[in-house]
Amino acid sequence: MWFACHRRPDRSFFWKGRPFPVCARCTGLYVGYGIGLLLSLWLGPLASFWSVVLIIPLLIDSFTQYWQWRESNNPLRLITGLLAGTGIVLLTIGFAYTAALALTVVDGY
Ligand SMILES: [Zn+2]
Repeated sequence: MWFACHRRPDRSFFWKGRPFPVCARCTGLYVGYGIGLLLSLWLGPLASFWSVVLIIPLLIDSFTQYWQWRESNNPLRLITGLLAGTGIVLLTIGFAYTAALALTVVDGY
C-alpha cells in the first residue's frame, strides 16, 4: 500500500477486545488484494473498465467523508475496501500483462 494506515480505533474492527492492526478500510483493501490475485490466477488478466468501477465506491466514500458531507461506518469502509482492493490488483496485473505483451511484440519474441 502506498500510504500508512491511521489505525484509529473508532474506525477499526475489534477481536477479543483488541483492535485490528489496520483500520476497517485497510482490512478490506488487504483482503481485496487477495481476492484480486485469486481472480487473476483463475480467470487471467482482467484489466478493464470494470476494474476501475470497483475502485469508485471507495473514492466516493472516502472523499464525501473527508469533505464532511457525511460520516461513513466500518461495514461500508470494509465493503468499499474489498471492492477497491480487488479492482486495484485486477488493474495492476492487467496492465502488467498488457505491457509484457507489448514488450514481447517489440522484442520480436
Ligand atoms: Zn487504514
